[in-house]
Amino acid sequence: MLPSHVSLVVAGGGPAGFMAAITAAEVTIAAGGTPAVLVLEATPEPLHKVLISGGGRCNVTHACWDPLALVGYYPRGGRALRGPFSRFATTETVAWFERRGLALVEEPDGRLFPRSQRSASVVDTLRREAARLGVTLHTSEALQAAVALAGGGFELRLRSGALLRADRLLLATGSHPSGHRLAVGLGHTVVPPVPSLFTLRLADHPLAALAGVVMDPAGLELTLAGSASRRQRQSGPLLITHWGLSGPTVLRLTAFAARDLKQAGYRGELRVDWSGGRSQLQLQELFGQLRRDQARKQLANARPWPELSRRLWLHLLDRLGVDGELRWADLGRRPQEALIEALRASRYPVSGRGPFGEEFVTAGGIALGEVNLATMESRRQSGLYLAGEILDVDGVTGGFNFQHCWSSGWLAGQAIAAAGP
Ligand SMILES: Cc1cc2nc3c(=O)[nH]c(=O)nc-3n(C[C@H](O)[C@H](O)[C@H](O)COP(=O)(O)OP(=O)(O)OC[C@H]3O[C@@H](n4cnc5c(N)ncnc54)[C@H](O)[C@@H]3O)c2cc1C
Repeated sequence: MLPSHVSLVVAGGGPAGFMAAITAAEVTIAAGGTPAVLVLEATPEPLHKVLISGGGRCNVTHACWDPLALVGYYPRGGRALRGPFSRFATTETVAWFERRGLALVEEPDGRLFPRSQRSASVVDTLRREAARLGVTLHTSEALQAAVALAGGGFELRLRSGALLRADRLLLATGSHPSGHRLAVGLGHTVVPPVPSLFTLRLADHPLAALAGVVMDPAGLELTLAGSASRRQRQSGPLLITHWGLSGPTVLRLTAFAARDLKQAGYRGELRVDWSGGRSQLQLQELFGQLRRDQARKQLANARPWPELSRRLWLHLLDRLGVDGELRWADLGRRPQEALIEALRASRYPVSGRGPFGEEFVTAGGIALGEVNLATMESRRQSGLYLAGEILDVDGVTGGFNFQHCWSSGWLAGQAIAAAGP
C-alpha cells in the first residue's frame, strides 16, 4: 500500500536516488525526526546499472583525492562541480562505504572497486542501508506526472494511477526521457542528450590486421569534418580492434568531443602519434644511432624501441613500401623521413561511432545553471531537487560517473533533511 502523503518522494532507484534517500533519512533521524521517504523505481530491479557496471564489479569511484583535480574528468560539469566536490568527493565516498562495511580497493590505474570484486555488494549495501533507515521502496512503479501545489509540495500521479502528495520531490531518473519530461513540466530545460564514451570506427579500417595490439602511450588528435579548428587531443593507452580504435584514451577523447562529434556526423580525421611523444629531432637522432649500432640488422628484426609493437612496426614498413629485409645501414634518407612521419603522425579517416565501452552514459540533461549546486534544489521550482545523470553532467570512464551520483545524491539528501518537514 502506498501512503497518501510523504515528506520526500525520490523518483528513480539508481545510485543517485538511493544515496539521496539514505542521506535524507539518516540526517532526519539524527535530528530526532521520523523520515517519510519513498523511492519509486519504474523497473522491478532497483540499482540495475550498478549491478551490471564495471563488468559486474562496479567501479565505484576513482582515486583522485583532490576535488580541484577531480573536476577535470567531467567534460560536462567541469569547474561548476568544484563546490559540490569540495563537500563530498572521493575521500568521503570511500569513508561512506567503509562505515557501512564495504571496503574499496584501488587498481593500478586508479579505479576503485569493492574488495569483494562484486557489484552485488554495492547494491546490497545501499539496499540494506535504505531498509535500516525505514526508506520505503516501491518497484515497478513509475512517476508519471508531477504538479507543484500553490501552498508548496507536489501532487504526484503514478503509472498505476495512484495519486499521492509529497512535500519534496527528487528527480533521479538518470537519462530516461520520462525524467526529462517531468523536469520540463516543472519549468526546466533539457540540453539535448547525445552519446558519450564510445569507440571510433575507421574508414576501410587500415589497421584491421593489427586487432589486439595495445600501444601505451599513443597520442591522439581528432579533427572533425567541417571544422579544422575543433581539435581534441588525448594521450594514453590505445587498443586496436577489428572495427577501429578503443581503449581509455579513445573513450576520453569521445567524451570530451561528444557534442562536436555528433554535429560532425561522427566523421573526421584522427592523427595518431605512435612514437610515445618523441619529437622529430629525437627520432632522427634515434634512427641515426640505429643505423650505426644495428647497421647489419634487418629493419623487420630490429624495431626502433622495444615498446613499439612489432606488428605495428611491420605494418608501417609495409604501408610505406619499405622492404623489411633492408639493413638499418642501408636505410635511405627519404624512407627514414617517411617512417618518422608515420610514427609521429599517421592519419586515419574516422567513419563513425563504434560500440560503447564498459560504461555507457549520455552527455546532456537538465541545464546546470537551473540548479543550485550547493543543495541540488531547482532554481525553477522550490521543493524540487535533481541528482545524478538527469543533470547535464558526465564524466570520463573510470568511476567518475558514479562519483557524481554519490556527491549530488548526498548533497540533495542533506539539503532536503535540513529543509525540515
Ligand atoms: C553497462 C554500464 C556500465 C557502467 N559502469 C560504470 C562504472 O563502472 N562506473 C561508473 O562510474 N559509471 C558506470 N556507468 C554509468 C553509471 O551507471 C551511471 O552514470 C549511473 O547509473 C547514473 O545513475 P543515476 O542514479 O543518475 O541513474 P540510473 O542509474 O539510470 O537510475 C535511474 C533509475 O530511475 C528509474 N526511472 C526512470 N524513470 C523513472 C520514473 N519516471 N519513475 C521511477 N523511476 C524511474 C530507472 O529505471 C533507473 O533505475 C555504467 C553504465 C552502464 C550502462
